[in-house]
Amino acid sequence: SIHHQIVIVGGGAAGLGVAARLAHAGCKNVAIIEPSDKHYYQPFWTLVGAGVVKREQSVRPTAGLIPNGAKWIQDAVSEFDPAANRLRTRGGKDISYDYLVVAPGLQIDWHKIKGLPESLGKNGVCSNYSYDAVNSTWENIRNFKGGNAVFNFPPPPIKCAGAPQKAMYLAEDYFRRQGIRDKSRLVYYCATPTIFSAPHYAKALTEQVVKPRDIEVHFKHDLVEIRAAAKEAVIQNLDNGETILQPYDMLHVVPPMSAPDFVKQSPLANAAGYVDVSKETLQHVRYPNVFSIGDASSLPTSKTAAAVRAQSPFLVTNLLAVIAGRQPTANYDGYTSCPLITGYGKLILAEFDYDLNPCETFPFDQRKERYSMYLLKRYVLPVMYWDGMLKGSNFPKPGRA
Ligand code: FAD
Repeated sequence: SIHHQIVIVGGGAAGLGVAARLAHAGCKNVAIIEPSDKHYYQPFWTLVGAGVVKREQSVRPTAGLIPNGAKWIQDAVSEFDPAANRLRTRGGKDISYDYLVVAPGLQIDWHKIKGLPESLGKNGVCSNYSYDAVNSTWENIRNFKGGNAVFNFPPPPIKCAGAPQKAMYLAEDYFRRQGIRDKSRLVYYCATPTIFSAPHYAKALTEQVVKPRDIEVHFKHDLVEIRAAAKEAVIQNLDNGETILQPYDMLHVVPPMSAPDFVKQSPLANAAGYVDVSKETLQHVRYPNVFSIGDASSLPTSKTAAAVRAQSPFLVTNLLAVIAGRQPTANYDGYTSCPLITGYGKLILAEFDYDLNPCETFPFDQRKERYSMYLLKRYVLPVMYWDGMLKGSNFPKPGRA
Protein backbone atom coordinates (compact mmCIF):
# COMPACT_ATOMS: atom_id res chain seq x y z
CA SER A 1 0.00 0.00 0.00
CA ILE A 2 0.98 3.63 -0.57
CA HIS A 3 1.78 6.10 2.23
CA HIS A 4 2.31 9.87 2.14
CA GLN A 5 2.77 12.29 4.99
CA ILE A 6 0.17 14.66 3.51
CA VAL A 7 -2.49 13.61 1.02
CA ILE A 8 -4.55 16.27 -0.80
CA VAL A 9 -7.81 15.15 -2.36
CA GLY A 10 -8.59 17.26 -5.45
CA GLY A 11 -6.19 19.31 -7.58
CA GLY A 12 -8.58 22.20 -8.24
CA ALA A 13 -8.25 25.82 -7.21
CA ALA A 14 -7.89 24.82 -3.56
CA GLY A 15 -5.82 21.64 -3.71
CA LEU A 16 -3.09 23.00 -6.00
CA GLY A 17 -2.65 26.21 -4.02
CA VAL A 18 -2.35 24.32 -0.73
CA ALA A 19 0.17 21.90 -2.29
CA ALA A 20 2.29 24.81 -3.52
CA ARG A 21 2.29 26.50 -0.10
CA LEU A 22 3.28 23.21 1.57
CA ALA A 23 6.11 22.82 -0.94
CA HIS A 24 7.33 26.36 -0.11
CA ALA A 25 7.23 25.41 3.58
CA GLY A 26 9.56 22.49 2.88
CA CYS A 27 7.07 19.60 3.09
CA LYS A 28 8.65 16.82 1.04
CA ASN A 29 6.10 14.05 1.08
CA VAL A 30 2.89 15.47 -0.39
CA ALA A 31 0.58 13.68 -2.83
CA ILE A 32 -2.34 15.17 -4.79
CA ILE A 33 -5.07 12.79 -5.87
CA GLU A 34 -6.77 14.30 -8.93
CA PRO A 35 -8.52 12.33 -11.70
CA SER A 36 -8.55 14.99 -14.42
CA ASP A 37 -5.59 15.69 -16.72
CA LYS A 38 -7.10 19.14 -17.37
CA HIS A 39 -7.51 22.02 -14.94
CA TYR A 40 -10.19 24.66 -15.54
CA TYR A 41 -10.24 28.31 -14.56
CA GLN A 42 -14.02 28.23 -14.07
CA PRO A 43 -14.46 31.99 -13.43
CA PHE A 44 -13.68 32.53 -17.15
CA TRP A 45 -16.81 30.63 -18.19
CA THR A 46 -19.00 33.69 -17.55
CA LEU A 47 -16.93 35.54 -20.17
CA VAL A 48 -16.88 32.52 -22.53
CA GLY A 49 -20.69 32.40 -22.40
CA ALA A 50 -20.77 36.06 -23.40
CA GLY A 51 -18.34 35.65 -26.31
CA VAL A 52 -15.56 37.69 -24.67
CA VAL A 53 -12.94 34.91 -24.40
CA LYS A 54 -12.63 31.43 -25.94
CA ARG A 55 -13.24 28.45 -23.70
CA GLU A 56 -9.76 27.11 -24.56
CA GLN A 57 -8.36 30.07 -22.56
CA SER A 58 -9.83 28.53 -19.39
CA VAL A 59 -7.96 25.22 -19.52
CA ARG A 60 -4.40 24.07 -18.83
CA PRO A 61 -2.90 20.59 -18.41
CA THR A 62 -2.87 19.44 -14.78
CA ALA A 63 0.64 18.03 -15.19
CA GLY A 64 2.13 21.52 -15.56
CA LEU A 65 0.43 22.76 -12.37
CA ILE A 66 1.62 20.16 -9.88
CA PRO A 67 4.21 21.91 -7.68
CA ASN A 68 7.79 20.64 -7.67
CA GLY A 69 8.21 17.97 -5.06
CA ALA A 70 4.54 16.97 -4.88
CA LYS A 71 3.40 13.69 -6.38
CA TRP A 72 0.33 13.53 -8.63
CA ILE A 73 -1.75 10.37 -8.29
CA GLN A 74 -4.13 10.39 -11.26
CA ASP A 75 -7.13 8.69 -9.72
CA ALA A 76 -10.38 9.57 -7.93
CA VAL A 77 -11.03 8.95 -4.25
CA SER A 78 -14.04 6.70 -3.67
CA GLU A 79 -14.01 6.06 0.09
CA PHE A 80 -12.59 7.61 3.27
CA ASP A 81 -11.65 5.71 6.43
CA PRO A 82 -10.47 8.56 8.69
CA ALA A 83 -10.37 6.42 11.84
CA ALA A 84 -7.65 4.33 10.15
CA ASN A 85 -6.03 7.31 8.32
CA ARG A 86 -6.66 5.62 4.98
CA LEU A 87 -8.61 6.14 1.83
CA ARG A 88 -9.42 4.12 -1.25
CA THR A 89 -9.49 5.14 -4.90
CA ARG A 90 -11.72 4.18 -7.77
CA GLY A 91 -8.65 2.59 -9.36
CA GLY A 92 -8.42 0.23 -6.36
CA LYS A 93 -5.47 1.85 -4.55
CA ASP A 94 -5.30 1.94 -0.74
CA ILE A 95 -3.53 5.08 0.39
CA SER A 96 -2.62 5.98 3.97
CA TYR A 97 -1.57 9.38 5.33
CA ASP A 98 -0.56 11.23 8.46
CA TYR A 99 -2.50 14.38 7.42
CA LEU A 100 -5.35 14.79 4.95
CA VAL A 101 -6.62 17.85 3.07
CA VAL A 102 -10.02 17.36 1.42
CA ALA A 103 -10.73 19.65 -1.56
CA PRO A 104 -12.77 17.89 -4.27
CA GLY A 105 -15.11 20.84 -4.98
CA LEU A 106 -18.82 20.59 -5.68
CA GLN A 107 -20.72 17.95 -7.58
CA ILE A 108 -23.09 19.23 -10.26
CA ASP A 109 -26.44 17.45 -10.09
CA TRP A 110 -27.65 17.87 -13.69
CA HIS A 111 -30.05 14.94 -13.24
CA LYS A 112 -32.01 16.73 -10.50
CA ILE A 113 -33.80 18.88 -13.09
CA LYS A 114 -36.06 16.61 -15.10
CA GLY A 115 -35.33 16.80 -18.82
CA LEU A 116 -32.07 18.74 -18.39
CA PRO A 117 -29.39 16.10 -19.14
CA GLU A 118 -30.90 15.28 -22.55
CA SER A 119 -31.72 18.88 -23.54
CA LEU A 120 -28.53 20.68 -22.43
CA GLY A 121 -26.76 22.44 -25.30
CA LYS A 122 -29.67 21.99 -27.73
CA ASN A 123 -32.66 24.07 -28.90
CA GLY A 124 -32.15 27.04 -26.65
CA VAL A 125 -31.06 25.25 -23.46
CA CYS A 126 -27.60 26.30 -22.33
CA SER A 127 -25.38 26.69 -19.25
CA ASN A 128 -22.15 28.37 -18.19
CA TYR A 129 -21.62 25.67 -15.55
CA SER A 130 -19.58 23.24 -17.63
CA TYR A 131 -16.79 23.37 -20.17
CA ASP A 132 -18.82 21.20 -22.54
CA ALA A 133 -21.96 23.35 -22.40
CA VAL A 134 -20.52 26.86 -22.10
CA ASN A 135 -20.24 27.54 -25.85
CA SER A 136 -23.98 26.96 -26.17
CA THR A 137 -24.65 30.07 -24.05
CA TRP A 138 -22.84 32.36 -26.46
CA GLU A 139 -24.48 30.62 -29.45
CA ASN A 140 -27.91 31.32 -27.99
CA ILE A 141 -27.17 34.92 -27.07
CA ARG A 142 -25.63 35.64 -30.47
CA ASN A 143 -28.50 34.08 -32.40
CA PHE A 144 -31.35 35.44 -30.26
CA LYS A 145 -34.00 37.21 -32.34
CA GLY A 146 -36.28 38.33 -29.49
CA GLY A 147 -38.77 36.48 -27.28
CA ASN A 148 -38.34 35.02 -23.80
CA ALA A 149 -34.84 34.69 -22.36
CA VAL A 150 -35.22 32.76 -19.11
CA PHE A 151 -32.58 32.33 -16.34
CA ASN A 152 -32.64 30.49 -13.01
CA PHE A 153 -30.84 30.38 -9.68
CA PRO A 154 -31.28 26.99 -7.94
CA PRO A 155 -31.52 26.44 -4.17
CA PRO A 156 -28.04 27.21 -2.74
CA PRO A 157 -25.30 26.43 -2.05
CA ILE A 158 -23.88 26.75 -5.54
CA LYS A 159 -20.44 27.84 -6.63
CA CYS A 160 -20.19 31.52 -7.50
CA ALA A 161 -23.64 32.68 -6.49
CA GLY A 162 -23.21 35.71 -8.75
CA ALA A 163 -22.67 33.74 -11.97
CA PRO A 164 -26.38 33.04 -12.71
CA GLN A 165 -27.24 36.74 -12.79
CA LYS A 166 -24.01 37.71 -14.55
CA ALA A 167 -25.08 35.52 -17.49
CA MET A 168 -28.40 37.37 -17.60
CA TYR A 169 -26.93 40.89 -17.39
CA LEU A 170 -24.52 40.15 -20.24
CA ALA A 171 -27.36 38.75 -22.39
CA GLU A 172 -29.50 41.79 -21.66
CA ASP A 173 -26.68 44.14 -22.59
CA TYR A 174 -26.02 42.23 -25.82
CA PHE A 175 -29.69 42.31 -26.86
CA ARG A 176 -29.73 46.07 -26.23
CA ARG A 177 -26.64 46.57 -28.39
CA GLN A 178 -28.25 44.46 -31.17
CA GLY A 179 -31.39 46.60 -31.10
CA ILE A 180 -33.65 43.70 -30.08
CA ARG A 181 -34.10 44.57 -26.40
CA ASP A 182 -37.66 45.89 -26.97
CA LYS A 183 -38.62 42.52 -28.48
CA SER A 184 -37.08 40.57 -25.57
CA ARG A 185 -38.37 39.67 -22.13
CA LEU A 186 -35.74 38.68 -19.55
CA VAL A 187 -37.06 36.60 -16.67
CA TYR A 188 -35.05 35.44 -13.63
CA TYR A 189 -36.43 32.63 -11.45
CA CYS A 190 -34.50 32.79 -8.22
CA ALA A 191 -34.87 30.21 -5.42
CA THR A 192 -33.62 32.64 -2.76
CA PRO A 193 -35.67 35.55 -1.35
CA THR A 194 -33.13 38.22 -2.41
CA ILE A 195 -30.96 38.92 -5.46
CA PHE A 196 -27.67 38.54 -3.52
CA SER A 197 -26.75 37.32 -0.03
CA ALA A 198 -24.91 40.45 1.14
CA PRO A 199 -27.52 43.25 1.52
CA HIS A 200 -24.94 45.98 0.80
CA TYR A 201 -24.66 44.74 -2.81
CA ALA A 202 -28.22 43.40 -3.18
CA LYS A 203 -29.57 46.94 -2.90
CA ALA A 204 -27.11 48.23 -5.51
CA LEU A 205 -27.96 45.42 -7.94
CA THR A 206 -31.68 46.00 -7.59
CA GLU A 207 -31.53 49.78 -7.93
CA GLN A 208 -28.75 50.19 -10.49
CA VAL A 209 -29.27 47.11 -12.66
CA VAL A 210 -32.46 45.06 -12.29
CA LYS A 211 -35.02 47.87 -12.11
CA PRO A 212 -33.64 50.38 -14.63
CA ARG A 213 -32.98 47.60 -17.15
CA ASP A 214 -36.47 46.18 -16.80
CA ILE A 215 -35.51 42.63 -15.79
CA GLU A 216 -38.35 40.55 -14.37
CA VAL A 217 -37.33 38.78 -11.15
CA HIS A 218 -39.38 36.12 -9.34
CA PHE A 219 -37.98 35.22 -5.94
CA LYS A 220 -38.57 31.84 -4.25
CA HIS A 221 -39.19 30.16 -7.58
CA ASP A 222 -37.29 27.07 -8.71
CA LEU A 223 -36.77 25.48 -12.14
CA VAL A 224 -37.81 21.84 -11.73
CA GLU A 225 -38.32 20.50 -15.26
CA ILE A 226 -37.56 21.28 -18.89
CA ARG A 227 -40.01 20.22 -21.59
CA ALA A 228 -37.70 20.61 -24.53
CA ALA A 229 -40.17 19.60 -27.26
CA ALA A 230 -42.59 22.35 -26.24
CA LYS A 231 -39.77 24.76 -25.20
CA GLU A 232 -41.35 25.19 -21.79
CA ALA A 233 -39.75 25.41 -18.35
CA VAL A 234 -41.68 24.11 -15.35
CA ILE A 235 -41.21 26.53 -12.47
CA GLN A 236 -42.24 25.78 -8.90
CA ASN A 237 -43.35 28.45 -6.45
CA LEU A 238 -41.43 27.53 -3.29
CA ASP A 239 -44.05 29.14 -1.00
CA ASN A 240 -47.11 27.20 -2.10
CA GLY A 241 -45.64 24.37 -4.22
CA GLU A 242 -47.66 25.32 -7.28
CA THR A 243 -46.07 25.10 -10.71
CA ILE A 244 -46.28 27.37 -13.71
CA LEU A 245 -45.21 26.84 -17.32
CA GLN A 246 -42.77 29.38 -18.69
CA PRO A 247 -42.21 29.29 -22.46
CA TYR A 248 -38.63 30.11 -23.49
CA ASP A 249 -36.70 30.93 -26.62
CA MET A 250 -33.49 30.74 -24.65
CA LEU A 251 -33.05 29.10 -21.21
CA HIS A 252 -29.81 29.54 -19.27
CA VAL A 253 -29.75 26.79 -16.66
CA VAL A 254 -27.80 26.77 -13.42
CA PRO A 255 -28.04 23.20 -12.15
CA PRO A 256 -28.38 22.29 -8.46
CA MET A 257 -25.11 21.35 -6.75
CA SER A 258 -24.11 19.42 -3.65
CA ALA A 259 -21.12 17.90 -1.91
CA PRO A 260 -19.61 15.02 -3.95
CA ASP A 261 -21.38 11.73 -3.16
CA PHE A 262 -18.20 10.08 -1.81
CA VAL A 263 -17.89 12.92 0.71
CA LYS A 264 -21.59 12.84 1.64
CA GLN A 265 -21.37 9.12 2.36
CA SER A 266 -18.21 9.36 4.46
CA PRO A 267 -17.64 9.87 8.21
CA LEU A 268 -16.08 13.25 7.32
CA ALA A 269 -19.42 14.80 6.34
CA ASN A 270 -21.77 16.98 8.36
CA ALA A 271 -25.55 16.54 8.09
CA ALA A 272 -25.64 18.55 4.87
CA GLY A 273 -22.91 16.38 3.31
CA TYR A 274 -19.96 18.83 3.43
CA VAL A 275 -16.63 18.16 5.14
CA ASP A 276 -17.28 19.16 8.73
CA VAL A 277 -14.59 21.69 9.65
CA SER A 278 -14.16 24.57 12.09
CA LYS A 279 -15.17 27.75 10.29
CA GLU A 280 -12.16 29.55 11.76
CA THR A 281 -9.30 27.04 11.58
CA LEU A 282 -10.48 24.73 8.74
CA GLN A 283 -9.57 21.75 10.94
CA HIS A 284 -12.01 18.85 11.01
CA VAL A 285 -14.22 18.89 14.10
CA ARG A 286 -13.76 15.16 14.83
CA TYR A 287 -10.47 14.19 13.10
CA PRO A 288 -7.72 16.68 14.06
CA ASN A 289 -5.35 15.48 11.31
CA VAL A 290 -7.92 16.29 8.62
CA PHE A 291 -8.51 19.72 7.05
CA SER A 292 -10.81 20.93 4.30
CA ILE A 293 -10.93 24.00 2.06
CA GLY A 294 -13.04 25.36 -0.77
CA ASP A 295 -16.37 24.32 -2.20
CA ALA A 296 -16.52 20.85 -0.57
CA SER A 297 -15.97 22.24 2.93
CA SER A 298 -18.67 23.20 5.42
CA LEU A 299 -17.28 26.77 5.66
CA PRO A 300 -20.41 28.95 5.70
CA THR A 301 -19.25 31.50 3.15
CA SER A 302 -20.06 31.80 -0.52
CA LYS A 303 -18.20 29.27 -2.64
CA THR A 304 -15.69 31.07 -4.85
CA ALA A 305 -12.07 30.85 -5.97
CA ALA A 306 -11.57 34.19 -4.22
CA ALA A 307 -12.66 32.61 -0.93
CA VAL A 308 -10.27 29.72 -1.57
CA ARG A 309 -7.44 32.21 -2.11
CA ALA A 310 -8.19 33.75 1.28
CA GLN A 311 -8.60 30.38 3.05
CA SER A 312 -5.40 28.79 1.78
CA PRO A 313 -2.87 30.60 4.03
CA PHE A 314 -5.01 29.84 7.11
CA LEU A 315 -5.25 26.16 6.28
CA VAL A 316 -1.51 25.83 5.71
CA THR A 317 -0.54 27.81 8.82
CA ASN A 318 -2.86 25.66 10.94
CA LEU A 319 -1.84 22.37 9.35
CA LEU A 320 1.85 23.17 9.91
CA ALA A 321 1.06 24.04 13.54
CA VAL A 322 -0.66 20.68 14.05
CA ILE A 323 2.26 18.86 12.41
CA ALA A 324 4.58 20.67 14.86
CA GLY A 325 2.41 19.54 17.77
CA ARG A 326 0.79 22.91 18.43
CA GLN A 327 -2.83 24.08 18.40
CA PRO A 328 -4.19 25.70 15.23
CA THR A 329 -4.70 29.40 15.99
CA ALA A 330 -5.01 31.24 12.65
CA ASN A 331 -8.64 32.27 12.23
CA TYR A 332 -10.28 32.81 8.82
CA ASP A 333 -12.95 35.54 8.81
CA GLY A 334 -15.05 34.16 5.91
CA TYR A 335 -13.67 36.60 3.32
CA THR A 336 -15.14 35.94 -0.13
CA SER A 337 -15.51 38.00 -3.25
CA CYS A 338 -17.78 38.02 -6.25
CA PRO A 339 -16.98 40.11 -9.32
CA LEU A 340 -20.55 40.88 -10.44
CA ILE A 341 -20.34 41.60 -14.15
CA THR A 342 -23.36 43.74 -14.96
CA GLY A 343 -22.70 44.18 -18.69
CA TYR A 344 -19.89 44.40 -21.27
CA GLY A 345 -17.31 46.62 -19.56
CA LYS A 346 -19.21 46.99 -16.28
CA LEU A 347 -18.68 45.33 -12.92
CA ILE A 348 -19.64 45.66 -9.24
CA LEU A 349 -16.94 44.06 -7.07
CA ALA A 350 -18.58 42.48 -4.01
CA GLU A 351 -16.25 41.53 -1.14
CA PHE A 352 -17.61 40.44 2.24
CA ASP A 353 -17.09 38.20 5.28
CA TYR A 354 -19.06 35.65 7.33
CA ASP A 355 -21.33 38.40 8.66
CA LEU A 356 -22.02 39.60 5.09
CA ASN A 357 -20.31 42.88 5.96
CA PRO A 358 -18.37 44.48 3.12
CA CYS A 359 -14.57 44.17 3.31
CA GLU A 360 -13.49 46.06 0.25
CA THR A 361 -10.00 46.25 -1.25
CA PHE A 362 -10.25 49.53 -3.17
CA PRO A 363 -10.55 53.06 -1.79
CA PHE A 364 -13.80 53.80 -3.65
CA ASP A 365 -17.44 52.69 -3.42
CA GLN A 366 -17.39 49.21 -4.98
CA ARG A 367 -21.19 49.16 -5.31
CA LYS A 368 -20.87 51.36 -8.39
CA GLU A 369 -20.55 49.67 -11.79
CA ARG A 370 -17.02 50.33 -13.04
CA TYR A 371 -14.96 49.69 -16.17
CA SER A 372 -11.78 49.42 -14.09
CA MET A 373 -13.27 46.52 -12.11
CA TYR A 374 -14.29 44.81 -15.36
CA LEU A 375 -10.68 45.04 -16.52
CA LEU A 376 -9.62 43.53 -13.18
CA LYS A 377 -11.88 40.52 -13.82
CA ARG A 378 -10.90 40.17 -17.47
CA TYR A 379 -7.13 40.66 -17.18
CA VAL A 380 -5.83 40.77 -13.60
CA LEU A 381 -7.73 38.05 -11.71
CA PRO A 382 -6.71 35.30 -14.19
CA VAL A 383 -3.03 36.20 -13.64
CA MET A 384 -3.57 36.21 -9.87
CA TYR A 385 -5.10 32.74 -10.23
CA TRP A 386 -2.54 31.02 -12.48
CA ASP A 387 0.61 32.81 -11.30
CA GLY A 388 -0.46 33.65 -7.76
CA MET A 389 -2.81 31.34 -5.90
CA LEU A 390 -2.02 28.12 -7.80
CA LYS A 391 1.67 28.80 -7.15
CA GLY A 392 1.06 29.33 -3.45
CA SER A 393 1.25 33.09 -3.13
CA ASN A 394 -1.40 35.76 -2.94
CA PHE A 395 0.32 37.88 -5.56
CA PRO A 396 -0.12 40.75 -5.87
CA LYS A 397 -1.78 41.02 -2.46
CA PRO A 398 0.36 40.04 0.51
CA GLY A 399 -2.39 37.80 1.90
CA ARG A 400 -4.65 38.04 4.88
CA ALA A 401 -3.24 35.39 7.21
P1 FAD B 1 -12.63 22.96 -7.90
O1 FAD B 1 -11.76 24.06 -8.40
O2 FAD B 1 -13.89 22.70 -8.61
O3 FAD B 1 -11.71 21.66 -7.89
C1 FAD B 1 -12.13 20.41 -7.42
C2 FAD B 1 -11.19 19.36 -7.98
O4 FAD B 1 -11.44 18.10 -7.34
C3 FAD B 1 -11.37 19.14 -9.47
O5 FAD B 1 -10.13 19.26 -10.13
C4 FAD B 1 -11.94 17.74 -9.57
O6 FAD B 1 -11.52 17.04 -10.74
C5 FAD B 1 -11.39 17.08 -8.30
N1 FAD B 1 -12.18 15.92 -7.86
C6 FAD B 1 -13.51 15.71 -8.02
N2 FAD B 1 -13.85 14.50 -7.54
C7 FAD B 1 -12.72 13.95 -7.04
C8 FAD B 1 -12.42 12.70 -6.42
N3 FAD B 1 -13.36 11.76 -6.24
N4 FAD B 1 -11.15 12.45 -6.03
C9 FAD B 1 -10.17 13.38 -6.23
N5 FAD B 1 -10.40 14.57 -6.83
C10 FAD B 1 -11.65 14.84 -7.23
N6 FAD B 1 -15.07 32.03 -8.34
C11 FAD B 1 -14.59 33.29 -8.17
O7 FAD B 1 -13.83 33.52 -7.24
N7 FAD B 1 -14.95 34.30 -9.01
C12 FAD B 1 -15.76 34.10 -10.07
O8 FAD B 1 -16.05 35.03 -10.83
C13 FAD B 1 -16.27 32.79 -10.30
N8 FAD B 1 -17.08 32.53 -11.34
C14 FAD B 1 -17.50 31.25 -11.58
C15 FAD B 1 -18.29 31.01 -12.68
C16 FAD B 1 -18.71 29.72 -12.99
C17 FAD B 1 -19.58 29.49 -14.19
C18 FAD B 1 -18.30 28.64 -12.15
C19 FAD B 1 -18.71 27.23 -12.49
C20 FAD B 1 -17.52 28.88 -11.03
C21 FAD B 1 -17.12 30.19 -10.73
N9 FAD B 1 -16.34 30.48 -9.59
C22 FAD B 1 -15.89 31.76 -9.39
C23 FAD B 1 -16.18 29.46 -8.53
C24 FAD B 1 -14.81 28.78 -8.49
O9 FAD B 1 -14.49 28.22 -9.74
C25 FAD B 1 -14.84 27.69 -7.41
O10 FAD B 1 -15.37 28.20 -6.22
C26 FAD B 1 -13.44 27.14 -7.13
O11 FAD B 1 -12.94 26.53 -8.30
C27 FAD B 1 -13.48 26.17 -5.96
O12 FAD B 1 -12.25 25.52 -5.80
P2 FAD B 1 -12.18 23.99 -5.28
O13 FAD B 1 -10.76 23.62 -5.37
O14 FAD B 1 -12.91 23.87 -4.01
O15 FAD B 1 -13.02 23.18 -6.37
